[in-house]
Amino acid sequence: MKKKVIIIGGGIAGLSSGVYALKNGFDVTILESHSIPGGNCTSWKRKGYQFEGGMHWLTGSGKDTELNKLWHYVGALDDSVVIHNKEPFTEFDFKGTAIRLYRDVNKTQEHLTELFPEDTAEIEKLCNSIRQLANNEMPDDVYASNFKSEGLKELFRSFIGDYQGPIPIFFFFTFGTFAIGDGGFPEGGSLPFAGRIAKTVTSLGGEILYNTKAEQVIVENGKAVGVLANNIHSNTTTKMDADFVVVTSDTMTIDILFEIPAKALWIDEMRRVTHPTMCTFISLGINADLKKYPTQYVFKLTKPINFVNHPMEYLHVNNYADDPNFSPAGKTAMTVILGGDTYDFWRGAKEGGTYEEEKQKLADTIIAAIEKQIPETTGKFEVIDVATPLTYERYCGTWKGSYMTAMTPEVKMEPYPPVVDNISRLYFAGQRMMPPGGFPIALTTARTAIEYLCKDANVVFANEGANVDLQLI
Ligand SMILES: Cc1cc2nc3c(=O)[nH]c(=O)nc-3n(C[C@H](O)[C@H](O)[C@H](O)COP(=O)(O)OP(=O)(O)OC[C@H]3O[C@@H](n4cnc5c(N)ncnc54)[C@H](O)[C@@H]3O)c2cc1C
Repeated sequence: MKKKVIIIGGGIAGLSSGVYALKNGFDVTILESHSIPGGNCTSWKRKGYQFEGGMHWLTGSGKDTELNKLWHYVGALDDSVVIHNKEPFTEFDFKGTAIRLYRDVNKTQEHLTELFPEDTAEIEKLCNSIRQLANNEMPDDVYASNFKSEGLKELFRSFIGDYQGPIPIFFFFTFGTFAIGDGGFPEGGSLPFAGRIAKTVTSLGGEILYNTKAEQVIVENGKAVGVLANNIHSNTTTKMDADFVVVTSDTMTIDILFEIPAKALWIDEMRRVTHPTMCTFISLGINADLKKYPTQYVFKLTKPINFVNHPMEYLHVNNYADDPNFSPAGKTAMTVILGGDTYDFWRGAKEGGTYEEEKQKLADTIIAAIEKQIPETTGKFEVIDVATPLTYERYCGTWKGSYMTAMTPEVKMEPYPPVVDNISRLYFAGQRMMPPGGFPIALTTARTAIEYLCKDANVVFANEGANVDLQLI
């Protein structure tokens, strides 16, 4: 008889845990409260447009990376999946001059030096720091304030605001990833990506129960022995027995799953240091062909926007005009992702009855800014949708609707252990299990959780043979 593993959550961590458990000989059931797989790795369709909601670039898309072996192992990528590495990655409109950042660091250096020869030495330092990170070395500090040219000062202000310290490490991680040919965009984006892992699960004999919400992990004598699962449509709750339970829903919200809370030092630490990364996500379907505009376009607003006490001087838009998967011919899907912790604002608006009105007001402001910068869009917006942190909270059950962890000084980029002190046969995986989260963390923490599970079950952990420790960044 195969031992039974119940996995809570069918996002990237849950699906990946499912594949690793199946490939190690376990019987697997995944409980997913939504009607589709993927969790935060998702897209949505309206009137022929598709809006990419989760994936902007994928660490591990590069063939030469260790993580790529894991994505292949779980079936998220295979040799038929086209990976797009678009150049330039981002373009900033500085008073009509296009300042481009390319994945190719040499090209970036050449381009920036040509535009701003007065900053030749500082540009070289910036690009060398990207190269250092690409070689797994810590980059030298580079200060945006050291650039002489207003264009480069503005470019960095659009990324990091008026921050006076060295350019944050995330910039170097991003461009270091690109510099080694990684961080591409798998064709079709999130939905097919998650769908392929779900297909691997079912083709290996695993079961995914959609519209099924785990209400409680059943614990007997300090051991996880099953799950109370509620079918959302019929509102019936069933007791499902298990030999092992893997929780991949947000660890910041796990208390709702336990009668007696799970205890471990890492849970206390996680609660103490975690600040959420969340967004308000604006999807726009535009009846205009915007292929001539950059795919990631940054421009200065003629009048700053005060978005819930987060003053915005610049707008970053994602333009999907050149990808036929995202809009009908001649039209354009565009998304705008506004960061900042706005949870309390949206919660207050919901409770005060002004939620829809506030969403409309925000959409109108953003549309006006886009029309000003891209005149072809004027009067052409035929789909307008605003998702707030409350939307993410509703769909994924995440803490404050957050999908990653902010890298504040207190937060360490190290994984939390996937087990707790007071309940055995219970494992944790997912975005929150190692800051800052994201797809690679969902995947690698799933792998680790099943490795621990195999040890407890006296099973030699079968895997893809990759050296993942190197890839945890
Ligand atoms: C706008 C946006 C852009 C992003 N861009 C990137 C990017 O470019 N690169 C990158 O690496 N990452 C990116 N991310 C982050 C990435 O999407 C997430 O970190 C990752 O998908 C998290 O996966 P997960 O499986 O850990 O959690 P989740 O996606 O939250 O999955 C958890 C699943 O559990 C289900 N669930 C919760 N509670 C229960 C329950 N009680 N019973 C049953 N099911 C339950 C939820 O419905 C959900 O499907 C982005 C996210 C967003 C929102």
